[in-house]
This record gives sequence, structure tokens and C-alpha cells, in this order.
Amino acid sequence: MPDSQRTTPWHIILLFLVVVAGGALAWWGATGSSRAQIEVGAACTQCGYAGKIMVGPTPSSEPWPRECPKCHQKHYYFAQRCPACGKLIPMKDPEADKFGSPRSCPWCKSRALNT
Ligand SMILES: [Zn+2]
Ligand SMILES: [Zn+2]
Repeated sequence: MPDSQRTTPWHIILLFLVVVAGGALAWWGATGSSRAQIEVGAACTQCGYAGKIMVGPTPSSEPWPRECPKCHQKHYYFAQRCPACGKLIPMKDPEADKFGSPRSCPWCKSRALNT
């Protein structure tokens, strides 16, 4: 069967391509995971909306604030849970509209976050 003999090399090439593509994907997956986006808590200082947002692996080095999904104003900050009341605290500089540490929890006034 000359036809099948002629097509055999193509099967090998195809298999080779699949292996290379699979290896490249595995490599990309392994190295790309460090740049992967992570989901963090976020809260709006304007309307009080608390939700989540996808950001880079280092939330503190991301540009803040983002646009709030509820009121669509740029007051949406990376947020951490208050150790005292458990609510999300927007990580906003108390003096400026940028990322920072609030002096106290805006909900229960606890200062446990900064200890
Ligand atoms: Zn808002
Ligand atoms: Zn609190």
C-alpha cells in the first residue's frame, strides 16, 4: 500500500508538532503562573460597595484606585478584612486618593489593622 507508506512521515511530523506544542504550553503555564492575575477583595470608599477584583500578583504595586463597578467612580480600592469586625477595609491613604494604609477601620474604628 504505497499511499499509506507515503503518509506515514506526516503522522510522525504531526505527533512531533503535538509534543512540541504541548511542551510549549506546559512551559508557558509554568512560567506564566507567576504573572497570573489573582482575585482580591476590593471596596469603594464612595458608595461602600465591597466586592472583588482581578489584579496582578502584588496588589500593593497595582495602580489604585480603580473604577467602582457600582457607582463607576474611581474610588475602588484593594481591601483587606478588618481583624476586629471582619468587613472589607479599602486600603486608601488617609491623606490622599491613593493606595495606603488607613489609620483605622472605617466601620468599627478598630486600629487592629495597623498593629
Ligand atoms: Zn462605588
Ligand atoms: Zn472593623
